[in-house]
Amino acid sequence: MSAQNPAGGPLLDGPADPEHDPRASYALEPEYAQNLTRRILASSGETAPVESPLNGQPVAHIPQSSDADVREAVARARRAQESWARTPLAERSAALLRLHDLVLDRQEEICDLIGVESGKARKDAFLELAHVALTARYYARTAHDHLDSRRVPGMFPGLTHVEVHHLPKGVVGIISPWNYPFTLALCDGLPALLAGNAVVIKPDSQTVLTALLGAELLEQAGFPRELWQVVAGPGREIGTPLIQGVDYMCFTGSTATGKLIAQQCAERVIGCSLELGGKNPILILRDASVEKAAEGTARASFSNAGQLCVSTERLFVADQIYDRFVERFVARTQAMTLGANLDWAVDMGTLISSDQLETVTAHVADAVAKGARVLTGGRARPDLGPYFYEPTILEGVTPDMTCFGHETFGPVVALYRFHDEADAVARANAGEYGLNGSIYSQDGSRARQLARQIKCGTVNINEGFGSTFGSLAAPMGGMRESGMGRRQGSEGILRYTDTQSVATQRGVRIGPSYGLSQEQYAKAMTLSLRLLKKLGRA
Ligand code: NAD
Repeated sequence: MSAQNPAGGPLLDGPADPEHDPRASYALEPEYAQNLTRRILASSGETAPVESPLNGQPVAHIPQSSDADVREAVARARRAQESWARTPLAERSAALLRLHDLVLDRQEEICDLIGVESGKARKDAFLELAHVALTARYYARTAHDHLDSRRVPGMFPGLTHVEVHHLPKGVVGIISPWNYPFTLALCDGLPALLAGNAVVIKPDSQTVLTALLGAELLEQAGFPRELWQVVAGPGREIGTPLIQGVDYMCFTGSTATGKLIAQQCAERVIGCSLELGGKNPILILRDASVEKAAEGTARASFSNAGQLCVSTERLFVADQIYDRFVERFVARTQAMTLGANLDWAVDMGTLISSDQLETVTAHVADAVAKGARVLTGGRARPDLGPYFYEPTILEGVTPDMTCFGHETFGPVVALYRFHDEADAVARANAGEYGLNGSIYSQDGSRARQLARQIKCGTVNINEGFGSTFGSLAAPMGGMRESGMGRRQGSEGILRYTDTQSVATQRGVRIGPSYGLSQEQYAKAMTLSLRLLKKLGRA
């Protein structure tokens, strides 16, 4: 494994001889890890070990936060937020633009750390930091569009003056998953900061260091250190004190956990956004370019070894091109390179854990036992690393099989043939998820029409997921059990604000005046309502 960090060389070059080098058994230099873990608010004295999924090498011991630590983190964040909310918007935006440059400048270090902690291919790690840069630039450049106070028409033109303000909620809690540990730790928090909030984040226990590197970059970009608090520990233990302390929750993870979070937020009547699971379909229409569809579908299904909320697990292919498509898709999939290293040459890295490997293995075994055919893949690859699994294409998947409707969250995709498009849309819409869908067709306007029938929060045409995910002005999130609320776009920042309307009444009051009785006032009101409608007022 080659792992160099140009910003200081903290990563070791693979296991060395522990007898001569006390740090040799660690995948990272202990000083590097400790420098990051110092940011965790943790007084319990307990630590949890983290291993690299690349090869099982120890990475670090992560200090664990107690309930009291979480409460203290929220209190510190609250204090920091008070002065941050008074910081001019131009200064907050400038810090985001500095973050943009920092993540690009330190990309080698970021990619190395993401690779060591999550085991993903370097190209997938790079997309994380690119997404953070895109998010930072978009919100920095559009801050005024979303956050400026605005005049709206009042009840009586000229007499009722109304302004609408977007006030920060206060402290935003973030619980993030392991699959995109850099961008999912940062991208939801950036608009929260820009809107004048503080953040307390609890990243997944397997990828805390990557989230901590994000926190370090935020501080270097100019955000006050206390404004972004990091706590660490099992979600089922410290999730509740976090939800009990904050003013809004942003959760990304499984639908099962999302429902628990939503219940706790409902108890406190605080808002939450939930970015949850999916069983995402691609429709390949009869006029699609087979070559482009095969290439795009392989990327959509096997990016990050399929551990991507918007990746594809169901492929509906038109009868007319089915055989040609399958041949190209299988060939492309078989040509993919797998590897446990931090090099650009790897197409697909490893699953992150034994739990993930178990789920993927069980889904494929269940499908095969019930009659599905494996067109390629279908095997774990312990020769490459402890949790590797081959990119796998299944045919003949039926509703009685687990992987028909349940999210696998791994490199497994099922092929289905269709005869007419209405039937394909109905099958794509079946089930309880509705996160991301795609359509391949050479007829853009027909595909766009069809897209409106797909019950997913995002639909990409001639691309798997990147077009919507990378278009920051476009809101992104799930329908049905794939979530509620949106990241990106105006929705992605306004969720962190409370809207306040301030109306100033001048001249006449809202009620009888100038000696009018209630009845005369009602008549005058009726006249004015009719007049305002005639004048075209909203
Ligand atoms: P998970 O729900 O188990 O864990 C996600 C986070 O929630 C972790 O930080 C975990 O510690 C925390 N958590 C777990 N139980 C908790 C509890 N009871 N209270 C509070 N916090 C708790 O999810 P996972 O399996 O680690 O992640 C994969 C899932 O996330 C997949 O279903 C995937 O589709 C989904 N996901 C969705 C998106 C999206 O944007 N829609 C993005 C990435 C992942």
